[in-house]
Amino acid sequence: MTSVRRRDFLAAGGALLLAGCSRSDGDRVATPTTSAPSTSAAETSSAAPSPTEEPAPTPGTPAEILARSTVPVLCFHQIREFRADDSAYARTIITPPAVLTAQLQALRDGGYTPVTAPAVVDHLQFGTALPDRPVLLTFDDGSVTHATAALPVLQQFGFPAAFFPMTVVLDKPDWLSSDQLRELDAAGMTIGAHSWDHQRMDQLTGDQWTEQLDAPAATLAGILGHPVDLLAYPHGMWNQEALPHVATAGYRAAFQLADTTDPAQPLLTIRRIMPPPTWDGATLLAHLESDF
Ligand SMILES: [Zn+2]
Repeated sequence: MTSVRRRDFLAAGGALLLAGCSRSDGDRVATPTTSAPSTSAAETSSAAPSPTEEPAPTPGTPAEILARSTVPVLCFHQIREFRADDSAYARTIITPPAVLTAQLQALRDGGYTPVTAPAVVDHLQFGTALPDRPVLLTFDDGSVTHATAALPVLQQFGFPAAFFPMTVVLDKPDWLSSDQLRELDAAGMTIGAHSWDHQRMDQLTGDQWTEQLDAPAATLAGILGHPVDLLAYPHGMWNQEALPHVATAGYRAAFQLADTTDPAQPLLTIRRIMPPPTWDGATLLAHLESDF
């Protein structure tokens, strides 16, 4: 099965990239400079560990990753006041700024610590430590309100988040500009991909995989000046056929909105929930407990 090949590939890649090192959970002590008999030998050997090198992580098995998949992940969309012409559905995915502030305050009051998306993926994949009651905040689609409304609230709390814009909308009115993406990135936020134009990834064929998976990551990397390796599925939807395409395109993890995680590919099917604006703090905290 492709899932087995993916696991083997990940394990082999991790071993090759970080040969000779190992790390246990939360163990981040400095690597000893060298145990070589002479400094000249260490200096001339390309195999000698650098004193600044991180110890090597060991990727978990799918079962281990699945067992760690208890970090709540929240998915927001537009952060703005309702308008008269907003549909009933739109009003479930629009979060007025005061509601976002109240929901984030509830997380703080409930003892939750928002963490970065890479920290969550590292925890899932390698078992690295997270603070008590971690939570991941994500924002899909690329609304300009992510920079103008969400970022100020996040900075008020000192909370990190991840943003997943579709690339088709960038630099268009009401959507994030390239400068705003760089602003989010520079503020410590994570930028991931969300397809080119929001096609369902359980329905793609042929050249669409490259168009919807490879090209958006390349576009975002070009804007940000560094690789982009996280994905959020448009509509939160995926199927088994999509997973090898996601892996081949270079994504290390992908976020969805279904109720179940794939047991063979838990990193590519990380669950999220969408807190509607009608949830008060107590309701939000209850869902964090019951849904993850
Ligand atoms: Zn979306």
